[in-house]
Amino acid sequence: MSQKKLIWQIFPPFLAIIICALLAVTWTISRELSSFQIRQTTKDLEARAYLAGKQLTGQMTLANISTVDRLCKELGNSTATRLTVILNDGTVIGDSENQPEQMDNHSNRPEIAQALQGHIGTATRFSQTLQQNMLYVAIPIMGQDRVTGTIRASLSITALEHTLSKITLKFVGGGLVVALIAALVALIVSRRMSRPLGELQKGAERFAEGNLEQSLPISTVTEISGLAEAMNSMAAQLDERLRTVIRQRNEQEAVLASMIEGVIAIDTDQVVLRINSAAAHLFDINLANATGRHIGEVTRKVDLHRFVEQALTSSDPIEGELTLLHQGEERYLQAHGAPLRGATGQKIGALVVVHDVTRLRRLENLRRDFVANVSHELKTPITAIKGAVETLQGGAMNDPRDSQQFLEIADRQVDRLNAIIEDLLALSRLERGAETETIDCTMENLQPIFTSALQACAIIAEAREVQVSLFCSEELMACVNAPLLEQAIINLVDNAIKYSEAGSVVTVEGWQAGDQVQIKVQDRGQGIPKEHLPRLFERFYRVDAARSRAIGGTGLGLAIVKHIVQAHNGDVVVHSTLGEGSVFTISLPTSLASGGFDGPV
Ligand code: ADP
Repeated sequence: MSQKKLIWQIFPPFLAIIICALLAVTWTISRELSSFQIRQTTKDLEARAYLAGKQLTGQMTLANISTVDRLCKELGNSTATRLTVILNDGTVIGDSENQPEQMDNHSNRPEIAQALQGHIGTATRFSQTLQQNMLYVAIPIMGQDRVTGTIRASLSITALEHTLSKITLKFVGGGLVVALIAALVALIVSRRMSRPLGELQKGAERFAEGNLEQSLPISTVTEISGLAEAMNSMAAQLDERLRTVIRQRNEQEAVLASMIEGVIAIDTDQVVLRINSAAAHLFDINLANATGRHIGEVTRKVDLHRFVEQALTSSDPIEGELTLLHQGEERYLQAHGAPLRGATGQKIGALVVVHDVTRLRRLENLRRDFVANVSHELKTPITAIKGAVETLQGGAMNDPRDSQQFLEIADRQVDRLNAIIEDLLALSRLERGAETETIDCTMENLQPIFTSALQACAIIAEAREVQVSLFCSEELMACVNAPLLEQAIINLVDNAIKYSEAGSVVTVEGWQAGDQVQIKVQDRGQGIPKEHLPRLFERFYRVDAARSRAIGGTGLGLAIVKHIVQAHNGDVVVHSTLGEGSVFTISLPTSLASGGFDGPV
């Protein structure tokens, strides 16, 4: 459908109506004027005919033709009217414009025929004699109670028509001026009507573009102002609702963004509707362009695809575990899937919430391993004690030498059990202390602590013929828990002595490095194979379990060291070369801001 501007819908019909009305008025007036003029002229001619008729009374015979004709010419001249006198047989005996002898019989002229019957006859006709349109009025002339003839007065109506057309022309001219003014007024009115509508249209376009704040101008036209007010109130409501929606969306975004759990909403076609940053991070998804794409496109994690499919097909909430390889490490995720329902309750997709339980799972594994390790560690001495007791009961008790030997075995194993339990208790105390941050630290001079540790190891060093040297400034200070730090040094020096050959040297060094204190325990012993280094500080981790046990190790010494160092917010590292020896370096902050604990190892 072709579209036109409102002004072109209103203006042309308006103009057409004005022109039609003017034409109708002009036509009616000119017609009325013409008939009025003819009526008046007819009456006038009738009067003139009567006046002439009075002078012709008694002369209506053919014999008086010359008198009658002369009289006609005189009267016709003085009244500017054509006068014709006709006898009742139609013979013309006088005419103001012609010679009557040359004129034909007039009895068949309609106005003459009417007059001869005693009526007033009128006719309008083209005169062959004068070659123009004429108005004829004929009256009967009576003599001795009968019509003796008729006198006809006539006038050219061409002049009349001329006057009339002049008047009509003036009418048309005036009408055209009126039409022009009316058209101008129509144009202004149309403009006035279309302008506020145009503004309404622009305003509606602004609303459609989302600019709802600028309201529409109120027109002076009631209907248009009503429409503008309705649209303004609609825009205000829309604006309010939009703000509410945006606020709610922002709140939702904020909630989703700050969630530790990963959240993915998908529709029934597996297209991502919503995803939060935690989920994007867990599944290596580019958050910026994930929404609106198929889940298969945004991530290749097959476990997730499978879980999404299950969540979409199930009508009840489901639970599952996903194992992913993330940056070379295994990650364990606990996943919950629930159907997403629309306002009318129909299923529109599924919501998947995942929680990273990797740390929890590792802790569980660690605890499980720990329990297994403790049981294993305790079982070895208990088995040995049980074996010794049974041997004694089996008769060895009677032999003083055997009984002595088995009692010594039992005693050694009890010591070993004691050592393990002591170390476990120490670890437990450390863990509890770190968790509750109750490890007391004071600014201490470190040299006495190192000296005391070395003294504790002096007997074993002498027994194994290992020389232990200390290099440390007397001024070296740090905020430490002295007994715990001493324990850590003892453990390291004890290991260094145990895993060194006789005649070897163990050095303990302490120095200040920036805002840190470095403590280095170095031996020139057998060293540790590289592959064992990452796990060396784990509980019960041993490079050579048999040898460790043989020399009275519990496998907990380095774990205790690590815990003590962590409780001081410090760090411990090991460097070792097979056959050349090992270096354990502890870094401690000079002033302890707060005690820290990173979980069991
Ligand atoms: P253990 O009681 O067995 O010594 P630790 O936790 O103290 O337990 O040590 C763990 C393991 O680390 C030891 O079994 C040993 O194999 C290795 N180790 C520790 N210190 C040294 C060292 N200085 N030289 C070589 N190996 C070492």
